[in-house]
Amino acid sequence: HHPSLTRNKVGYTRRDYEGKVSTLCAGCGHDSISAAIIQACWELDIEPHRVAKLSGIGCSSKTPDYFLGASHGFNTVHGRMPSVLTGANLANRDLLYLGVSGDGDSASIGLGQFAHAMRRNVNMVYIVENNGVYGLTKGQFSATADKGSQSKKGVVNADSPVDLVGLAMQLGASFVARSFSGDKAQMVPLIKAAIGHGGAAFIDIISPCVTFNNHAGSTRSYDWVREHNEAVSRIDFISSRDEITATIAPGEVVDVEQHDGTVLRLRKLHADYDPSDRVAAMSHMHARAAEGELLTGLLYIEGEAGDLHAAQHTSARPLNSLGKADLCPGAAALD
Ligand code: SF4
Repeated sequence: HHPSLTRNKVGYTRRDYEGKVSTLCAGCGHDSISAAIIQACWELDIEPHRVAKLSGIGCSSKTPDYFLGASHGFNTVHGRMPSVLTGANLANRDLLYLGVSGDGDSASIGLGQFAHAMRRNVNMVYIVENNGVYGLTKGQFSATADKGSQSKKGVVNADSPVDLVGLAMQLGASFVARSFSGDKAQMVPLIKAAIGHGGAAFIDIISPCVTFNNHAGSTRSYDWVREHNEAVSRIDFISSRDEITATIAPGEVVDVEQHDGTVLRLRKLHADYDPSDRVAAMSHMHARAAEGELLTGLLYIEGEAGDLHAAQHTSARPLNSLGKADLCPGAAALD
C-alpha cells in the first residue's frame, strides 16, 4: 500500500482529506500548511464531515478549497471569518471549526474580529497564514510586515508591525502558538494540539510568499525565517494519560492535559521559558524578538503545568461531542 492509501481508525485514507488541486504559486508556504492540516486530521481520525472550515479573503483564504474536500466550508467576507464562524458555532456545536485566515484578513481589515474571537475564547482552531504581504493584490506590505523589511521593489517598510501572537496573549487567548510553513514536523503536532484544545487555539504560521516576499532584505523570505526562527518548546507526543510512561527530570518538560483528555508533553527548549505563565511567556518572547529572533512552538497554553498528576482541566465550559469547549458562557442563554 502507498502510505496515502493507508486507512485510519475511521476508515479514511489520507487522500480522503485532500481537496481540489491548489491554484496558488508553486512553492507558496500556504500549500505546506494545507498538507499539515490534512496530516493532522487524518492522524486524529476525524471524519471529514465533522469539520467546518471557514476563511476570509486573500491567498490564504483560498486554501480551504485544497484540503478536506468532504467537509463543510464557507469562504466569507474579507476580515469577517470570525463572526461567521461564531454564528455557525451557535447553530451547531458538534463540528470542529477550522478558521483559516491571512495577515491582511486578520491583522488589517479583520483586526477587530480577530481580537474579539481571542478575547471571547470562541471554540475554534484559528490559523493565520502570515507572510507580511498582500499577495493577492501584488505585493504591498501588510500590517504584520516588519519595520525595515524591504519589498520586492526595494521600498523599506516604515511602519510598526502588528504582532498577532503578542496581541492574542494580551487579550487572554488560552492557546497561542507560532510555527513556520517550512517545518512540517513542528506544524502537525501543533495543529493536533490546537484541535484538542477547548476554546480558541491560535496558530500564527509564518508562510513565505515566494512571489512577492522571497528576496534579500525581506524578513519573511524562506532564508530569513529559516535562519531566525527558534523553537521554545516541542510537543514530544500527544497521547492519553495512560500511554505516558516516559519519565523525564522535572523542569525539562511541561505536561498539559487538554479538554479531550489528550496530554501534551511539552519539552522546553529554553530553560528559562514557561509556556503556562502568560506574563513570563510574553516577556520572554519580546526579549528574544528584540534580538531579532522569531520564537516558534507552543508559546502559551492556559493550564496547570509541571507534574502530570497536577495537570487539570482549566475551563468549566461544557464540551461538545468532539470534546471542544462550548462557544462562550453567553451562548447557553441563547438556546
Ligand atoms: Fe502564495 Fe504569494 Fe503566490 Fe499568494 S502571491 S499564492 S501568497 S506565493
